[in-house]
Amino acid sequence: MANDLFNSFMTGPDEQGRFGDFGGRFVSETLMPLILSLEEEYEKAKTDDEFWAEMNDLWTHYVGRPSPLYFAERLTDHLGGAKVYMKRDELNHTGAHKINNVLGQIILARRMGKTRIIAETGAGQHGVATATVCAKFGLKCVVYMGAHDVERQAPNVFRMRLLGAEVVPVTSGRGTLKDAMNDALRDWVTNVRDTFYCIGTVAGPHPYPAMVRDFQAIIGKEVREQMDAAEGRLPDTLIAAIGGGSNAMGLFYPFLDDKEVNIIGVEAGGKGVNAKMEHCASLTGGRPGVLHGNRTYLLQDDDGQILEGFSISAGLDYPGIGPEHAWLHEIGRAKYVSITDVEALEAFQLCCTLEGIIPALEPSHALAHVMKLAPTLPKDHIICMNMCGRGDKDIFTVAKALGFEMGNFG
Ligand SMILES: *Cc1c(COP(=O)(O)O)cnc(C)c1O
Repeated sequence: MANDLFNSFMTGPDEQGRFGDFGGRFVSETLMPLILSLEEEYEKAKTDDEFWAEMNDLWTHYVGRPSPLYFAERLTDHLGGAKVYMKRDELNHTGAHKINNVLGQIILARRMGKTRIIAETGAGQHGVATATVCAKFGLKCVVYMGAHDVERQAPNVFRMRLLGAEVVPVTSGRGTLKDAMNDALRDWVTNVRDTFYCIGTVAGPHPYPAMVRDFQAIIGKEVREQMDAAEGRLPDTLIAAIGGGSNAMGLFYPFLDDKEVNIIGVEAGGKGVNAKMEHCASLTGGRPGVLHGNRTYLLQDDDGQILEGFSISAGLDYPGIGPEHAWLHEIGRAKYVSITDVEALEAFQLCCTLEGIIPALEPSHALAHVMKLAPTLPKDHIICMNMCGRGDKDIFTVAKALGFEMGNFG
């Protein structure tokens, strides 16, 4: 199945891993050989039918793919405009899209003879997916997580420990996702021989952004087939939430050549993009710089110091964005908007009561933009949004935001 994914699209990267002026590999000399050997292994795997047969088998029997494409009828009626479809990636094993990519990287790690897997995590979804696949294959797993996140995401920390992973709280910097990624990169350099670094989004030095995108592209590839079966044509508009940008790239990538398909990425606007950096909208509120081995749009102050993002959704709390999105933004192929915490919470509640689906707070941002857009469009316009995660992990955050005390709902 694989090979047709890689030949026809307009998008890069070039051999240096650059998407226009973005991406690349800004890494120390010690890291370079590791990255080159990973790239070599991935280049081999791309066209290796055995690799993709193993992926397909696990996607089908372990993850539960293909995920359904669902017509949200009551939501569509309620909004009174465009037809709204949801790609149900929240039904994957472990509850989000992260596992699509983790499986690919762990199969590569096994092929390279690596026995120790490290990962960074913010809200804990990537850490849980990595711990899960490591348990399945009997690999040692170490997850770096900001000390602040360890505190606010206790259920995911316990999940990772149940799955046999070691969770290392990171106290450097401000103790968040950015710092966890720095420590994971440091670990990699010092444990060269047996360790594989499994990155959770389309960030990091080349080949990670392109490789993670290719693993997540199964989302958009399925949507093409499913939409053809349901409507006999392509969707008109694609919408996805963006933290680092992997679920969005996965949905968008197989449609980049179809100029008639509108593509919209939704960043976390937190308290509002004008609210003194209390948001995570790297494209709408940041500017280009270098972080974690690539050049992209970042939240930074006048001196180039990276700023902490803010969002009600811990999974969108990354101060950068994948370099391919920076490029798609610059060439105008995709449009990027932001949605505030308040708007996302409203969409979250509407989805629960109209569709019987409790969404994660991340895709609630995408849904909030659907709610703005659909009423302005004709009834024969088709929107497809990526429901990239389920909301179980977020019920405490939502309860607090809505003024409920858990355990006291009477
Ligand atoms: C991690 C996560 C995100 C953000 O990551 P992307 O790389 O932008 O996809 C979004 N939604 C969910 C449900 C997540 O777990």
